Amino acid sequence: MTPMPERLNAARFALGGRLLDLLFPPRCVNCKQVGGAFCPQCFGSIQFIQPPFCPRCSHWLVSANAPCPACRAQPRLITRVRAAAWHEGAIRQAIHALKYNRRRDVAAPLATLLAPLCLNTESKPDLLTSVPLHPERQRERGYNQAEELAKQTARRSGGTYARLLERTRATADQIGLNAQERHANVRDAFRVNASIQLQGKQIVLIDDVYTTGATLDACAAALFARGASAVYGVTVARPR
Ligand SMILES: [Zn+2]
Ligand SMILES: [Zn+2]
Repeated sequence: MTPMPERLNAARFALGGRLLDLLFPPRCVNCKQVGGAFCPQCFGSIQFIQPPFCPRCSHWLVSANAPCPACRAQPRLITRVRAAAWHEGAIRQAIHALKYNRRRDVAAPLATLLAPLCLNTESKPDLLTSVPLHPERQRERGYNQAEELAKQTARRSGGTYARLLERTRATADQIGLNAQERHANVRDAFRVNASIQLQGKQIVLIDDVYTTGATLDACAAALFARGASAVYGVTVARPR
């Protein structure tokens, strides 16, 4: 039987959550309608990435099953990257809310888009992990949005989440840098900080947005250095 103080705390927590919902009901990230993180209309407006797309980075293609020009120009370490939707409209608002407006509740509906992409690898992945945030930024935000997405996705895909990576140094903001500068900016910026055996493991690496793939590639390099056999990047969105 659960001790009395613990049961009281649990009840208080549940009541507090309900009270908070009554006082500040969750609103749709896109149209602000009261009800939840996404209203049905805004969820229905999401532009999913449909085939044919680049087998390496999920970008749209004119002809199927050949890497896109960006992947041909910049060889990638990561095994493959899938993105669920184009970075626009309701998805863009959702990612912004998750990152900058403390809308942690947005991670669960977004994970429903990520889970099918994780099961779509060659075989069932061994572990799910996430791109780490700089500790200072994580302190400001209170959580790492990529980790929230990865934990929720693991719950939905039956996988196991593990915090595997850490940043070895602060990196400059990637905004305004071209692909080559982005790769140079994050090279050797990550390392595995876990005693988990990664030899021969297939790992799903979760992030919110894919831009040039530089960050995912730098994380993949650290996982491959510890013996991972495949690293599948899975993101909510990528730009067209
Ligand atoms: Zn809406
Ligand atoms: Zn590509």
